[in-house]
Formats: sequence, C-alpha cells, structure tokens
Amino acid sequence: MWSASGRRLRASSANPRADQVKPPPFDYAKPASLSEALELLASDDDAKILAGGQSFVPVLNFRLASPSLLIDINGLAELGRISLVDGGLRLGAIVRYRDLEDSELVAAENPLLAHALHHIAHYQIRNRGTVGGSSSHADPSAEFPAVSALCGAEYVLQSIRGSRVLPADEFFLGALTTALEADEILTEIRFPPWPRDRRWAFEEIAPRLGDFAILGAAVLLDPGETRILVFGAGDRASRLPRAEAALRGRTLDKAAILEAAKLASEEIEPQGDIHATAEYRKAMAEVLVERCLERASGVKVVA
Ligand SMILES: Cc1cc2nc3c(=O)[nH]c(=O)nc-3n(C[C@H](O)[C@H](O)[C@H](O)COP(=O)(O)OP(=O)(O)OC[C@H]3O[C@@H](n4cnc5c(N)ncnc54)[C@H](O)[C@@H]3O)c2cc1C
Repeated sequence: MWSASGRRLRASSANPRADQVKPPPFDYAKPASLSEALELLASDDDAKILAGGQSFVPVLNFRLASPSLLIDINGLAELGRISLVDGGLRLGAIVRYRDLEDSELVAAENPLLAHALHHIAHYQIRNRGTVGGSSSHADPSAEFPAVSALCGAEYVLQSIRGSRVLPADEFFLGALTTALEADEILTEIRFPPWPRDRRWAFEEIAPRLGDFAILGAAVLLDPGETRILVFGAGDRASRLPRAEAALRGRTLDKAAILEAAKLASEEIEPQGDIHATAEYRKAMAEVLVERCLERASGVKVVA
C-alpha cells in the first residue's frame, strides 16, 4: 500500500502486508535531475541509490540492507552518456553494459573494455546492470572495475558539498568497499586516451561464461611499459608491481614472460572459497598472466 507525497512514494507503516513481501519497507523516489537526487541523498542518512538493481535488489530481498529511502537514478539522462573528451572515453554512471556492447566508440577507444564485457554476467543482467552500479558495488571478481583500474581510469563523485575525482586505486578500498561517502553519487568514469600502438590481452576462468570469475588477468603493453593486473584473487583487482618490474627495459621473450608469470603467482595472496582453493588461484594466476603476455606480445611460449 503506497501513497504519493510529492515525488517520494511512502510505504505506509500501517501496511498489514509489509512482512509478506521479500524486501523490507522503504520509501522510493525517482528524481528528475542530479541536483534533486543529491538533495534527497543528503536529506536522509539511510538513503541508498538504485541503479540497475542487479546487485542491490537481491541484497534487499535477502533483507541484508534496510534503507529508509531508495533513490532511483535511472531517469537521469545526464548520467547515461558515452562520450570522448580530450581523447579519453567518458562513461556516465548509468551507462549499461548493453550500451557499451552496442557502442562503436567503445570498440574503437577501448578494445580491452569491449572484449571484457562479454565475460560479464548474462544478457539479461547486462541489459540492466550499470558501470556505476558495478563500480559502487565493488565486487573483487567484477570485470569493469578491473579494466578501469588497469587503464588508470578516474572516478567522479558528487554531493551537495561539491565534487571530487579519484583515481581507481583510491576509489576501490576493498571487497564491496569504496571511497564513496553516504551523501555522494558516482556520476562518471573517465578513461585516459587509448594509445594507438597499445597491445592488450584479457583472460578469465569462470565455471561458465557469464559466471563471476574465479580468477582473471589482463595486460597492457605500451612502448616502455607493461602493466599486469589480476582480479578475483584478493579484496580488489590489483596491478602486480614485481611482475611488471621484471619486464622493465627487457625484450619480451619467452624467458621474460615465464619469469613475470611466476612472479605474478608469487605476488598475489588469494583466499580459498567454495569456488576454488587459494593454491588453485595461485597456479591459475601464473597460467593466465603467461597467456595474456603471450597473446599481447605475439611471442610463442608454448610450442
Ligand atoms: C546472476 C548474476 C551474475 C552476475 N555476474 C557478474 C559478472 O560475471 N561480472 C560482473 O562484473 N558482475 C556480475 N554481476 C553483477 C552485475 O554486474 C550488476 O549489474 C552490478 O554489480 C551492479 O550494477 P547495478 O547497476 O545493477 O547496481 P545496483 O544493484 O542498482 O547497485 C549496486 C550498489 O551500488 C550502489 N550504487 C549504484 N549506482 C550508484 C551510483 N551511481 N553512485 C553511488 N552508489 C551507487 C547501490 O546503492 C548499491 O549499493 C552479476 C549479477 C547477477 C545477479
């Protein structure tokens, strides 16, 4: 039993059926502008943002969260744009995976992201899930945060107090934990320009295509710099400084690739869970980093 009060719909506390539905009762608002959304968020300490709902609705249905107010940002057209600014891709927070899949701009300006998308969940989830929702949820096995961290993307956070821009490695703080304050909305993700001579590779192991990754790896090869990242192995996607350092100033040949892949395995400190043991993840990190480096460089490691 809902009654409208302005743009905010209020769940009546007198609703006799409140305990018979899956989520706990909450008020609902669908603001028409970002400034209205920010005002609403600032006005209620227990308010939460609703984007694609693919992670948060299950959380509500299990009653793992009880927000007083859900602020639905799906009507904010200003957060739904894909654009190119100063040569870098900019994604509004409610851009959906499906929008990215359909975008020729994304395919041209970040082929790694375009490729990684196909590993994210299933068609129905990609139809609703947003880049801002995935980033704010911060699952350590999620592909989008991993690609953004490897590329050195920046995260734009806004509140009624103002805005700030954080690099990915300061935005992601741990498993399901980000730098977002309670009154902040993630509004945009900015990728640096994609160098034309860059080579890249992405690999992941999942029980089935579309399942969350048990482990994933990605590399970027730029003249003079190799970046290596593993995700699904710790509390967030991480670059591997020791493995990267082993390749600095060196010709990328079979010996160098094997050494870097071994270091990658040694460098991570994964945990075991119901999907895989820590030892399995370490072994797979070596395999996936080796495959990525082999594919990106074109050097044949396995005959
Ligand atoms: C069966 C299944 C399989 C999946 N497999 C994968 C997978 O393989 N890889 C993968 O990466 N993901 C996977 N996902 C997760 C999916 O990508 C979700 O879409 C994503 O994690 C959350 O995006 P959303 O837009 O649905 O966010 P929501 O569920 O709406 O929100 C998630 C959280 O972020 C907050 N939030 C959302 N947007 C903002 C914002 N702009 N500013 C501040 N806070 C915000 C919400 O308050 C909430 O706490 C899977 C999900 C399901 C259900």
